[in-house]
Amino acid sequence: MTEIVAGATIDTARRTLAARLAAAGLDSPELDARLLVGHAMQLDLTGLVMHGQRQLSQEDAQRLDVLAVRRLAGEPVARILGTREFWGLELQLSADTLVPRPDTETVVELALEHLTAGGDLKRRLRIADLGTGSGAILLALLSELPRAYGVGTDISVAALETARDNARALGLADRAGFVACSFAAALQAPFDLIVSNPPYIPSTDIEDLAIEVRAHDPRRALDGGGDGLDAYRALIPQAARLLQPGGALVVEVGVGQSGDVATLMTEAGLAADSAGVRADLGGISRAVMALKKVR
Ligand code: GLN
Repeated sequence: MTEIVAGATIDTARRTLAARLAAAGLDSPELDARLLVGHAMQLDLTGLVMHGQRQLSQEDAQRLDVLAVRRLAGEPVARILGTREFWGLELQLSADTLVPRPDTETVVELALEHLTAGGDLKRRLRIADLGTGSGAILLALLSELPRAYGVGTDISVAALETARDNARALGLADRAGFVACSFAAALQAPFDLIVSNPPYIPSTDIEDLAIEVRAHDPRRALDGGGDGLDAYRALIPQAARLLQPGGALVVEVGVGQSGDVATLMTEAGLAADSAGVRADLGGISRAVMALKKVR
């Protein structure tokens, strides 16, 4: 296997690494190589192009090799870098947070569309994000809703620390609070909007997930119990109690779960209909919304 050696240029190291990642069958070898070389050399993507002819020192080559070995062992680039972009926001990650997925932006979109239909996005709003992890969904919403206040909950205190750091770094900390509890257990009514991307993978399916997910995302952020729906059974009735009349619950769901989740919402007294299901870019029904009835 071609090694990354001191004295090679940044361009050569990037191409060598991309070839190594491609040979290992990884999905996006070119992009991964750019991000990893950039991380090792502390250059952004523009800097990489500008300094393509700079030579790697011994330490640079060693540092890059360590990153390459981690990626080849199945660690996702986002975990190696410690950050991931979501809704245009840069989020810090930790071992206790899920890596935010582009699919989850579907939840943000559906929630914002609902709020837009209900009037001005600049009105006062109360939002809760149940199982907030890195804070991704809550912070994306707060970044779009200048007079909204939000609370993110998580059973992981370490995740809450990451979420709080993200809120600070994004200048949203004065409108975001974080509470250690299971879903909405410690929250009091009323909320205009409740969102959640809970664990929804059936327990026995976890070992079939890609190594990037199964070995690196926190298991309790993935594991939805026997049929994958345990979290919805817990959080939907809580959310139904906490919403204002006319308020919305928007949740992410796994493949094939939208119908079952809509049924759980209806059983909790919420109004769910087919208009409240939104597909992600891969065409999978990914976000489900239901409304608290007005009376
Ligand atoms: N979207 C993740 C996956 O399929 C699962 C996240 C979750 O359970 N909420 O890899």
